[in-house]
Amino acid sequence: MKDAIIVRYCEIHLKGKNRSFFERLLVESLERALKGIKHSFKTINTRYLIEDYAEEDYSLIMSRLSKVSGIHTLSPAKVVDSNFEEIKDCAIKMVAGRRGEFKVNTNRADKKFPMHSVELSREIGAVLLDNYAPNIKVNVINPEFVLNIDIRECGDTLIYTDVIKGVGGLPIGSSGKGMLMISGGIDSPVAGYMLAKRGMRLEAIHFHSYPYTSEAALDKVKTLAKMVAEYSGGIKLHIVKFTHIQEEIHEKCPDDLMITMMRRFMMRIAEKVGKENGCQAIITGESLGQVASQTIESITTSNAVVSMPMLRPLIAFDKLEIIEISNKIGTYETSILPYEDCCTVFLPKFPATKPKMEAVLKAEKALDVEALIDEALKNVEVIAY
Ligand code: ATP
Ligand code: MG
Repeated sequence: MKDAIIVRYCEIHLKGKNRSFFERLLVESLERALKGIKHSFKTINTRYLIEDYAEEDYSLIMSRLSKVSGIHTLSPAKVVDSNFEEIKDCAIKMVAGRRGEFKVNTNRADKKFPMHSVELSREIGAVLLDNYAPNIKVNVINPEFVLNIDIRECGDTLIYTDVIKGVGGLPIGSSGKGMLMISGGIDSPVAGYMLAKRGMRLEAIHFHSYPYTSEAALDKVKTLAKMVAEYSGGIKLHIVKFTHIQEEIHEKCPDDLMITMMRRFMMRIAEKVGKENGCQAIITGESLGQVASQTIESITTSNAVVSMPMLRPLIAFDKLEIIEISNKIGTYETSILPYEDCCTVFLPKFPATKPKMEAVLKAEKALDVEALIDEALKNVEVIAY
């Protein structure tokens, strides 16, 4: 009897050539996630089996796999030889300590196995009752747990009870590459995770205003980028010094347009760096109406400076819904650390909630936009996670 982990993907929409493309990417993701951990890897039909790992690595493997896009579910399982005695002994061990209503479900892919599936389920069910009744009771309609017995054609049988939900979605690399605009807040890491879930590779860009913003604020962003990288199979983070641009806007443009003007610069730079690095879209954590810079008017004025598709996966989410995902992916506690963001530097008391395009264009005339962008691009720090 040995340990294994069953990895399943969602098969919907996977036809013909599409399937082998998807499977190749998923296997790449699995290998990347388990790099440095001793294990072996096997394909069984539309599932994968991870075996031959050290017992103490089990939790680490599960935690890494729980961040792999494209994995639908995971099951810790036991592998035994396909004979009744071994299956029986394993079933007894596996149900030890459990309580509640159960059923046994057998899948007999190996038609040479001497018992039919219903017959084996019944026999094993009876053995389990002999050992553990009254703590357990049979309920085939609405059981609290199911003991699954999967008799494979290769002569092995997989036995498992738990089916754990994975990230879902599509494997990384199946949906191109996007440039995530990452701040130190709650929203942008969640936005990155959501696109990674749909199979998008990520790069990230962050604007900081040192010395107005601190080293600690930047470290927080690096930590968040690293956390998102665990879902996206790595991230290249581009760190751009935004201080001079902000000072120029602050000095030469109307106060109430500060944020709108800043965002237009950020977007232009994000698009430039994105194009240079093969990105096909820009991703932000904007949510409609959440703050002054996220009204439809503000979004219109900032969106106008870029031609790449803008992906805003959180646009229709409430803050509480975003926080829920942030907690699930583990970024929340870091996101709420109280460090300043560059958007809070020179923050006007009354930002325009409905900036007018003509006013914005007029204000921008006071600046040498191209020169400021070129200057910012000369000094970009890049970190690969
Ligand atoms: P977040 O929680 O992601 O910080 P937010 O609610 O604070 O978002 P804004 O400050 O208006 O909202 O930012 C909207 C989006 O703009 C962010 O989700 C992020 O994608 C991008 N953004 C904001 N500040 C920065 C920054 N300093 N560097 C890079 N991108 C930024
Ligand atoms: Mg923010």
